[in-house]
Amino acid sequence: MGFHLDNLALPESSRKEPTLTEMTEKAIKILQKNQEQGFFLLVESSNIDKGHHAGVAAKSLYETLQLDEAVTLALTLTDADDTLIIVTADHSHAMSMVGYPSRGNPILGKVEEPSDVDFLPFTTLLYAISPGASVNASREDITSVDTSGADYRQQAAVPRSKSPHAGEDVAVYAHGTMSHLFRGVYEQTYVAHAAAFAACIGTHTDYNSEHCRQAHAAAGAPLLLPSDSMSAFVYVIVRVYVSALLVFFF
Ligand SMILES: [Zn+2]
Repeated sequence: MGFHLDNLALPESSRKEPTLTEMTEKAIKILQKNQEQGFFLLVESSNIDKGHHAGVAAKSLYETLQLDEAVTLALTLTDADDTLIIVTADHSHAMSMVGYPSRGNPILGKVEEPSDVDFLPFTTLLYAISPGASVNASREDITSVDTSGADYRQQAAVPRSKSPHAGEDVAVYAHGTMSHLFRGVYEQTYVAHAAAFAACIGTHTDYNSEHCRQAHAAAGAPLLLPSDSMSAFVYVIVRVYVSALLVFFF
């Protein structure tokens, strides 16, 4: 998949790739055809990651807008009473939003006050490590550079061929039934376990919990045991309280 921002630059008739939102809509509509069965859908907005690896913030930001659009659409196509939607990331990146820009300053623009050390302007978005860093040279003067372009590579402190992942905690957002399981900051592995618990899947099927009992009663079928296969995994989702589980990650 190419970047959404590059796709937008093409005339509409020449755009050959579907957007993340279009693919999400198609996937949900296909999975919803069998109303008796629930489903699990994982949507990855991987180009947010790829834009950051290239050190080009504009690419990542436009992909983030696409993710927002896809999640918004998923909210309208599903019912919060029987659907759990989780939005999270598997890691952060080395980008920072810094420098006291004034309110309303373009996010891809320069901070009004230049550095008080080298007296050169700098952008609001910068990378700690990326291909945008100067190598054995002083920082470039970007006074006359348009930093809002689709391919503008922000400056960085340390040069590296690809900007790497970073180690901050990432947010976990959840909406719909059982979303109370996601509040705050978690070890990354918690997300999968909590999602499995919400859907009464495998070892996380709690036969005494109200939500699994309701699922069992509604389905009129026995809950499956942890040793069941992948097809059973789908089967369980069919008959659980959380009838649809959507995970968006970036
Ligand atoms: Zn990556």
